[in-house]
Amino acid sequence: MPELGNGIVAYFSMEICLEQRIPTYSGGLGVLAGDTLRSAADLELPMVAVSLAHRKGYFHQHLDAQGQQSETPEEWRPEDLLEAFEPRVTVEIEGRTVQVRAWRYAVHGITGHAIPVVLLDTNLEENDAWDRTLTDVLYGGDQRYRLAQEMVLGMGGAAMLHALGYDDRVHYHINEGHAALLTLVLLDRQLGGRAPWEAGDADFEAVRLRCIFTTHTPVPAGHDKFPEEQVLQSLGEHYTALLSATKCCDDDGSLNMTYLALRLSRYINGVAMRHREVSREMFPAHPIDSITNGVHAVTWASGPFRALYDRHMPEWRRDNLYLRYAIAIPLEDIRKAHDAAKHAMIEEVERRSGVRLDAATMTIGFARRATPYKRADMIFSDIDRLRSIVEATGPLQIVYGGKAHPRDEGGKALIRNIFEAAQQLEGTIRVVYLENYDIDLACRLTSGVDLWLNNPRKPLEASGTSGMKAALNGVPSLSVLDGWWFEGHIEGVTGWSIGGSADPEPDETRESNDLYVKLEQVILPLFYGLPLGYVQVMRHAIALNGSFFNTQRMVQQYVRNAYFPTQGEPVPEDEEAVRS
Ligand SMILES: *Cc1c(COP(=O)(O)O)cnc(C)c1O
Repeated sequence: MPELGNGIVAYFSMEICLEQRIPTYSGGLGVLAGDTLRSAADLELPMVAVSLAHRKGYFHQHLDAQGQQSETPEEWRPEDLLEAFEPRVTVEIEGRTVQVRAWRYAVHGITGHAIPVVLLDTNLEENDAWDRTLTDVLYGGDQRYRLAQEMVLGMGGAAMLHALGYDDRVHYHINEGHAALLTLVLLDRQLGGRAPWEAGDADFEAVRLRCIFTTHTPVPAGHDKFPEEQVLQSLGEHYTALLSATKCCDDDGSLNMTYLALRLSRYINGVAMRHREVSREMFPAHPIDSITNGVHAVTWASGPFRALYDRHMPEWRRDNLYLRYAIAIPLEDIRKAHDAAKHAMIEEVERRSGVRLDAATMTIGFARRATPYKRADMIFSDIDRLRSIVEATGPLQIVYGGKAHPRDEGGKALIRNIFEAAQQLEGTIRVVYLENYDIDLACRLTSGVDLWLNNPRKPLEASGTSGMKAALNGVPSLSVLDGWWFEGHIEGVTGWSIGGSADPEPDETRESNDLYVKLEQVILPLFYGLPLGYVQVMRHAIALNGSFFNTQRMVQQYVRNAYFPTQGEPVPEDEEAVRS
C-alpha cells in the first residue's frame, strides 16, 4: 500500500450488504459497499463505515402462481447480533431534536484487520413515534421520510464519528448522493461559529479537501432531489442557509444531493469508463474520473472454484492478480469445478422451487433487481423464434431471480411477463423464477449457470457487478456493451456482446434480434458441438476478467487516485532522461 498519510477513510453508504442475516441492502449498490469493506479489510486499510440499521430490512418477496409480487418486512433486531456504541448524538430534524445511537459491526479481513461499521438507529424511546421509524425502511416512505433519513445518515453519521473520536484526519467517501448532507456538517464546523453567509472559497475548499464522491446513477431522474419548502422544513434555517451559501441548488431552489456532493468533493468518480463519459455529459462543470467496480473475489468464488484456485495458485486470496494465472489451469479441471457448482445450483433451485433442472442442458442465468430498464423479459420478445432456436440447436433452461421495489409497478409487471412466458414455453424451455434473490442465491446462480445474461437499456447500467461474480466462477456473459462489459468483453474470448459498442440509440428490436442470433449461431453450437471450446471461454473469463474486476484492484485504485493520491504530477519522460 502507498503511504497513507496518517489518514482514515469514512465510507458512507445508504446500504451496505454485510452478511446474509442482516437485510440492510437492496441490490448492487449495497453489495458493492460490502465488497468494498471486505477488500479494504483484506488490504488493512484504515477505514470506518457508516450506514443505517434498517430494522425492517429490505423486504421478503413472495410471488404467487401468476408472478404477482407481495412483500412483508424482513425484520431484524440489531440488539440480538451487535453491540451498541457508547455515545449518542442528535440531529435537528423539522425543529425536533432526534436522538441517534449506533450499533457496531466489524468486517474482518484475511489477516484479521477489522473495519468497524457504524449502523445508525433512531428507534429510541426519547424520540417521537415518526422519528423512531427513520432508520427502519431502506428507500421507504415519501420525500419527507427520505430527506429525514438522509439527514440521519449524513449529519447523524458525521456527528457520530466525531463523538467516537475520529478527528480531522478523516477523508469522507460519499458512496452515492444519499450521504451528501455530511458536507454541510463539515462546512458548519469549518465556519466555527461564523454565520453561513460568511462562508468563502477557503471554507469550501477546506471541506472539499476532505471529501470524495462516487456517483452511480447515469440518468438525471435517478438522483435524489428535494423541493425548497421541504428542505427548509426539514433542515431548518441554519442548515438551509449553509446550503444556500454553497450555491449548488437548482434554479427552483430544490436540493439535488448529487450537485451538493459534486460541489463539495475534491475527487469525483463514475463506476466504469463508459459511466464516466455519461457522467461528464450530465455534469460538464466537474472533473469526473472513473474507477471501475469490482466484487470481493473470495466471497463470490463458489466452493469448487475456491478449491481449484487454492490448488493452482494459493496466493490468489491475498493477491487477486494471481487469478491471471488461471490461464494455465487445465480445461478439464475447470470443467469439473463448474460441474460441481452447477450441481449445487440445481439442488438449491429444487429445494427452493421444486423444479429439477437438467445438468446437461445449457442454463442461462438472469438475476438482479427487477426494474424496467434491465429488461429481464427481452429473451421472450419472440417466443416462436426462441422455440425454433432450441429445436434447431439444442435444449435451454433459464433461471431468474430478483425483487421489484414495492412501488415499482413496471418492475412487478416484468416479473409477471416472465411467468407468462414460462407457461407458454412449458414443454420446450424450463423457466424458473426464484423468490427472494439475495447474496446466497446470487452466489449459487452466478457460479452454477453456463451463461450470464444481461441486457439493460443503454446507457443505464452504470457498471453492473453480477457478471463479474459469474466471471470469477468461469461463467461467461452475453451482454449489451454497457457498464463494465464495455471493458470486460472480448468477443468469443471472454463472452459475447448483444449489439455493437457504437450503436447510437438503443434499439430493442435490433438488440433482441442480436441476442437470438448469438444464441443460435454462436453460443449454443459451441456449447453442444465443441464443449472444450466453451470451457476455453470460461477460462478466459477467469484469467482476464476475474483478475481485474474485483474490489481488491478497485480499492487499491481508490487509495491511489482518491483517498491518498501521491503528491504532484509524474515527471515528463524527456526531463527524466535529462536527470538520469
Ligand atoms: C450482485 C448483486 C446485485 C447486483 O447485480 P447487477 O447485475 O449488478 O444488477 C443485486 N442483488 C444481489 C443480491 C447481488 O448479489
